[in-house]
Amino acid sequence: MAFLTAHEMERYDRQIRIAEIGKRGQEKLKNARVFIAGAGGLGSPISIYLAAAGVGAIRIVDRERVEASNLNRQILHWNDDIGRAKADSARATLARLNPATRTEAICDTITPENVAQLVAGCDLIVDAMDNLPTRFLLNKTAIEKNIPFFHGAVHGFEGRAMTVIPGKTACLRCMYRGPIPQETFPVIGVATAVIGSIQATEVIKWIAGIGALLENRVMVYDGLAMRFTEFRIQKNPGCDHCADAAEKG
Ligand SMILES: [Zn+2]
Repeated sequence: MAFLTAHEMERYDRQIRIAEIGKRGQEKLKNARVFIAGAGGLGSPISIYLAAAGVGAIRIVDRERVEASNLNRQILHWNDDIGRAKADSARATLARLNPATRTEAICDTITPENVAQLVAGCDLIVDAMDNLPTRFLLNKTAIEKNIPFFHGAVHGFEGRAMTVIPGKTACLRCMYRGPIPQETFPVIGVATAVIGSIQATEVIKWIAGIGALLENRVMVYDGLAMRFTEFRIQKNPGCDHCADAAEKG
């Protein structure tokens, strides 16, 4: 357990003043190891806010290079980064923001073969992907490793988020059972900012052990109507990802 330095007490003063966080919660953040799948629209606000909050270690994985069409939402990457590997650009941005956060940025595709190795040593998995097959892979991996999974997705001005606690809550697979869409979907950056911030908030709360998580409920955001709606999600007793975990839990 690493304790806070005088500099850290100063740096995080405004959030240490939050009664629920305090010095103890800040120490928990410092000792946390977070896995973020994707350095794009969601991965940008998630990694930036978690590094700013003083999370001790972030491992972020993305296989792509920065393109001009990413820049309306992927605020880890700026104009000068076009053509650069997103992993490199993400590492540089996060190091500038908070050099005390150990950032490991990996340029790779997340596959069934490498996922266990990629998430090894991390306390939780954050879903910042743009495709359902990889989201399902991460959901399943989190359940197998018995670590939480923080789901988020955006489309246009809309988005949704939910938190999966293996053995306790419904999982992503319980919620989605339909066909898998394959498309270049429209999205505006402010929608990823809202959903990514909700995911980062959930991560901070889980690490600190405070508040009420998005358990068995999905938060749906409609930026055009400017409305948040919450839906209850029930665990599917026949779920091929989490049914066993439910029996054990
Ligand atoms: Zn499930």
